[in-house]
Amino acid sequence: MTAVKIHGGIDILRLPVNQEEHVFPPWHIKYTQSHILHSKCSKSENSCGDKDASACQFCIFSRTLELPHMPDMVFPNNILTLKHQNGATLQFNALDALKTVSNGKINVQLACAEAWKESRSESSEYLEEKVKPFDWTFTTTYTGTISNFEVQETNERIDVDKLRRRDKILFYHDITMFEDELHDNGIAVCSVKIRVMPTSFFILLRYFLRIDGVMLRINDTRIYHEFGQDYLLREYTSREAKVEDIRAPPSLFIEPSEIAPHLPLTDCRYHKLVIISNKTESVTNNERVKETITGATSMKANTSEADGSIT
Ligand SMILES: [Zn+2]
Repeated sequence: MTAVKIHGGIDILRLPVNQEEHVFPPWHIKYTQSHILHSKCSKSENSCGDKDASACQFCIFSRTLELPHMPDMVFPNNILTLKHQNGATLQFNALDALKTVSNGKINVQLACAEAWKESRSESSEYLEEKVKPFDWTFTTTYTGTISNFEVQETNERIDVDKLRRRDKILFYHDITMFEDELHDNGIAVCSVKIRVMPTSFFILLRYFLRIDGVMLRINDTRIYHEFGQDYLLREYTSREAKVEDIRAPPSLFIEPSEIAPHLPLTDCRYHKLVIISNKTESVTNNERVKETITGATSMKANTSEADGSIT
């Protein structure tokens, strides 16, 4: 570990860039991981110019997101990429994850916000007009960044029983994209885990929010692929509840996988990502046409299947 001097005289501890690549034909899987985002421009006294093609990461994030506050810890280089030999690419990165945070409106239920405000007067600036309103929980509905996939609604579900089998794990990794401690009032964390087995791979992208004494929220994206098939299954679920409505011991509140089954499902979407080879577009889920739930019945019928806390 070495101390690196950046402009402005801030010393930060920089871990060596950590990366690993694995080939599971026809897939190439890679992750990179490095230091947190600087808290100011690392190149110039003011900031990198708008048209500066080599702008620093801080300026790229500030410019792209325009959030009044960034999470305490943002890991711009913590990126997981899966590339199919036909060109289809699936990636998970902090910048795209933060793009779905709502700026300009707070989407936490007012009751929750009020309770939080009452209990934490020192942090109330977030909820008052002197700070531009934004979602200080950094809630993201990110499901990954994809290119060269055709997205189709599907009734096919991830085979949870198959995932629970104790197949040999050829590769496993877990990376954090961003995290915020909400001024010591809880946690908001977004991370991604991957597990590669002899005949399949599985990814869990999770946003977890706990506002102490107020509420819990978990937005999960599960992606499953069986080698040899021309598609991936993607399941998105959103769960949340006020603490007062949760019938489970508070000791579980710090374990997202344990508490998830106790939180009611508030949204779910099921898609097939079909591998194609000729398109070049790259979109985040937010830019896609709003993907709708196929119907209340299918939503109910599949609630239990989505419960499996697999990794
Ligand atoms: Zn800069």
